[in-house]
Amino acid sequence: MATKRLDKRKIEETREVKAKVGVIPRADGSAMFSFGDSVAIAAVYGPKKIIPAHSSKPDKCVLRCFYDMNSFSVTERKRPGPSRRSTEISFETTKALEPVLDLEAFPGSVIDVFIMIVQADASTRCAGINAASMALAQAGLPMKELVSSVAVGKIGDLIVADLSKEEEDFKVKGEKSATDIATSFTSRSGKLTLLHLDGKVTQKELKEALELAKKVSQNVTDIQTKALKDIKDQ
Ligand code: ADP
Repeated sequence: MATKRLDKRKIEETREVKAKVGVIPRADGSAMFSFGDSVAIAAVYGPKKIIPAHSSKPDKCVLRCFYDMNSFSVTERKRPGPSRRSTEISFETTKALEPVLDLEAFPGSVIDVFIMIVQADASTRCAGINAASMALAQAGLPMKELVSSVAVGKIGDLIVADLSKEEEDFKVKGEKSATDIATSFTSRSGKLTLLHLDGKVTQKELKEALELAKKVSQNVTDIQTKALKDIKDQ
């Protein structure tokens, strides 16, 4: 039965979080967000004319998110290019961010969000969503609120925040034992916009995990807000 985390963090403690806005000058909005060794960079372009034109929606803007984990972001070189995993994460990211954007304000156009994972150590989709949310805000798009993302999970009997790759891969009797739950919440109204669960939990554990995620996502919001304020003050 696990009583302590591998790196001695408290159960609700994330790895060190860093956030910076305006990291890619020629993008309309950009940001970096990291959980420990997982580092994401997001760049936003738009609203702009959509190509191919048949992808346009007459009544609203299309949000397109592209998640990519660079080959050199993991210890064993990863095969470059799209994969089922990156396609799924791109879709999840789009769905996580759409609820806070006023897409009806730009009918017929597109907003492209490119998310690059330059270093990966678990929770990269969460880091990517946080970076993208800040980049969209810096691009000056009408947003009702931010989206703040964090993964929570279960190691043994412990419900914890922000599992590292080492924690995710922890084995009991030769089998991976951890459960990882990626979440995102809207920053003011607290609506859940992402729930991705890998592993097994009971209903009670899921409830506890989501309560923890909501609490920790508020710390993420504070860090995102500060980074956005820092760039405005410059
Ligand atoms: P997330 O990064 O959002 O937690 P996953 O659960 O799919 O998404 O991946 C967990 C971690 O596993 C990644 O952050 C990365 O460290 C590692 N990983 C994922 N895909 C690969 C891959 N193709 N090669 C090497 N490591 C990978």
